[in-house]
Amino acid sequence: MPESTWQSLLAAHETARRPNVGEVPDHRPGAAVLCCSDARVPPSAVFGQSHGDLFVVRNAGNLATPVAVASLDYAVSDLGVDLAIVMGHTQCGAVNAALNDTSEPHLEPVVGPILELLADEPDLDAGQLIEKNILSALDTLAASGGPVGEGIRVGDVQIVGALYDLATDSVVEISAPTDTREPRHLSEAQ
Ligand SMILES: [Zn+2]
Repeated sequence: MPESTWQSLLAAHETARRPNVGEVPDHRPGAAVLCCSDARVPPSAVFGQSHGDLFVVRNAGNLATPVAVASLDYAVSDLGVDLAIVMGHTQCGAVNAALNDTSEPHLEPVVGPILELLADEPDLDAGQLIEKNILSALDTLAASGGPVGEGIRVGDVQIVGALYDLATDSVVEISAPTDTREPRHLSEAQ
């Protein structure tokens, strides 16, 4: 069965190839997205973007792990990205595993950080925990010491939280915790 799935994917690839084959496109994405691995939440499809448009980092639970943060740092420092989006979604399996405390040892790296968010507020429902998990990732990015964190602090990089609703196929912005930072006015800095 896995072999037939692979063959059908290869066949589908032949019909999905981009039109300008032969040219290597520039790597200048307009934005970076940290998003859950859930197959129903493909960032490029959600935002109607194509090859080269989005720098995408994915893991189960859209966690700002060291690898995820370093990947976004690369997007900012080397690719010129100035907008980083953290996108969670409704009915997230990682969040539900934390809520139901059904995690198995091999899932601890995914569920553990989400469980920590419940420590302060154990009564959060799924929707609230999904939003808190998005905000937590934004917090981690804002506090990080690399190009993303530095870019946020000086106003060169913007971060935004997003919640994708599987039922309605809609995206809602989740307020960033950095809204209170002082905006930097270049003209005043002279
Ligand atoms: Zn998920």
